[in-house]
Amino acid sequence: MKKVLKYGVGWKFDSVEELAKHFNIPFKALKKQIAEYNSYVKSGVDEQFGKPMGKAKGKYLKAPFVTVRNWPKVHYCQGGAKINVKAEVIDSTTWKPIPGLFAAGEVAGGMHGVSRLGSCSIPDCMVMGMTAAKTMMKA
Ligand SMILES: Cc1cc2nc3c(=O)[nH]c(=O)nc-3n(C[C@H](O)[C@H](O)[C@H](O)COP(=O)(O)OP(=O)(O)OC[C@H]3O[C@@H](n4cnc5c(N)ncnc54)[C@H](O)[C@@H]3O)c2cc1C
Repeated sequence: MKKVLKYGVGWKFDSVEELAKHFNIPFKALKKQIAEYNSYVKSGVDEQFGKPMGKAKGKYLKAPFVTVRNWPKVHYCQGGAKINVKAEVIDSTTWKPIPGLFAAGEVAGGMHGVSRLGSCSIPDCMVMGMTAAKTMMKA
């Protein structure tokens, strides 16, 4: 929390009103939602979303609120220059390798099929980088 506040990616508010004002959120609705959530903390049953409340026991939402804003960010680009198993870049008009052009890593597309499994990008960079070097050495 200290770092979040230090680097300005989080904000601290002493009341729901301040929080709502900062993010331009309807104050009454937010206040109602917080009260509702707190009632689920008390009862141990989330009637709204069915969230398991076991670990929320006694953890009421109350001021001061330290907040962060969530937004999407690019984590991996699925797509790029098509390569073959030798790391040669394939010409999309002839489907043949472009002489002397190699690609490895995120700039190359198709390695992971329709979706990349987590943690498989760095191994891809290393394997295909070494593969490209081997292909070059053989040429
Ligand atoms: C937050 C985050 C977490 C991740 N966690 C993991 C993980 O846990 N495990 C995993 O396997 N993968 C992870 N990834 C994905 C992985 O880090 C990347 O896919 C990988 O680093 C891509 O390496 P790369 O060398 O292909 O591309 P990059 O690392 O993007 O390298 C491309 C380089 O080219 C340079 N460049 C761009 N344009 C030019 C230009 N015109 N001239 C010269 N240089 C240029 C850039 O500055 C950059 O240095 C994560 C990605 C993100 C964003």
